[in-house]
Amino acid sequence: NTQIRFVKRPTGLYDPADTFKVVKEPVPQPKDGQVLVRIIYLSLDPAMRGWMNDTRSYVPPVGINDVMRGSAVGEVVESKSDALKVGDIVTGTFGWQEYAAVDAKQATPWHPGSELPGVPLSKAFTVLNMTGMTAYFGLLDVTDPQPGETVVVSGAAGATGSLVVQIAKIKGCRVVGIAGGEEKCRYLKEELGVDAALDYRSSTFKQDFAAATPDYVNVFFDNVGGDILDTVLGRLAKGARISICGAISQYNATEAEARGPRNYTSLIAQRAKMQGFIVFDYADRYGEAAKEYIQWLKEGKLKVAVDIQEDGVTCAPEASLKLFKGGNKGKLLVKVGSE
Ligand code: NDP
Repeated sequence: NTQIRFVKRPTGLYDPADTFKVVKEPVPQPKDGQVLVRIIYLSLDPAMRGWMNDTRSYVPPVGINDVMRGSAVGEVVESKSDALKVGDIVTGTFGWQEYAAVDAKQATPWHPGSELPGVPLSKAFTVLNMTGMTAYFGLLDVTDPQPGETVVVSGAAGATGSLVVQIAKIKGCRVVGIAGGEEKCRYLKEELGVDAALDYRSSTFKQDFAAATPDYVNVFFDNVGGDILDTVLGRLAKGARISICGAISQYNATEAEARGPRNYTSLIAQRAKMQGFIVFDYADRYGEAAKEYIQWLKEGKLKVAVDIQEDGVTCAPEASLKLFKGGNKGKLLVKVGSE
């Protein structure tokens, strides 16, 4: 069982070579009430940078020498529980490894094949699991966008952002996507149908943003934080709602590099609200989102982009850096084992 262990808490942008260690262990034996899962796809998520820090958060930090935390989809290959049988497909926080022995209640049965014929597991896992749920509830529940409103999305070409822009279009909003580079902006306009796509790296970004939001911003779904959040705060419409989904520009920032919002006083003048959320708090409502996603997928209204790293679990440390350098196109997954 090849595993990636977390061996050193980093400061700033981590070096995969000294943050992680590859180890080989025997495949674990499930105990009574447990199942052995063979992992198929491992999800790489920006949140894992936060889990490396020894700070107070919504989950405890990953311990030194622990298998790196990560959510995954896999197949039950041995079962000592009545709840699951060999061959079942399950999701859970199985970690950066090839096999995981877990309590059956920590492995959620997964039946996308029957609901979504023809949609590959990698895409179904993206849209019907954490990423899709984050986009759906972070936009619709936190900000309640109305038809005709201007919705701005940062990290718009990423896994979460690319779903958010499409949901906002389906709901009849005018959508402005912000992403790094011309290629991602072209993708947003030509493939995902946003009304305006802006490159935050361009020297004219602030002027371009003002020109693209003539009626100001009703809703902002923020994946990035830092300077982009500040720019958007400067152009809020009255009654604006901001969903703080993430702040990837800050995850590797040292204390000297960290940037907080300076324009937050516009929340007062514009009677606006800014709210953070954690997707897991919506767990008992995931079914609602799944139902709507399945409908949109069947109607051909939704595109799901996946960026699959094919070289097994050992490529996870290096591949994870793509998230922080903008190297991924859509949901970053590692293919750990065959489907
Ligand atoms: P993405 O697929 O969006 O990948 C991350 C992207 O962020 C990169 O491709 C890059 O795109 C962009 N990025 C990286 N560094 C910077 C920077 N310094 N400035 C601007 N953009 C940057 O990842 P996910 O969809 O998985 O995650 C998106 C966000 O959602 C993250 O902030 C994550 O923490 C958050 N999240 C929050 C959850 C919650 O419950 N609140 C749950 C899941 C995710 P580009 O090329 O455009 O720069």
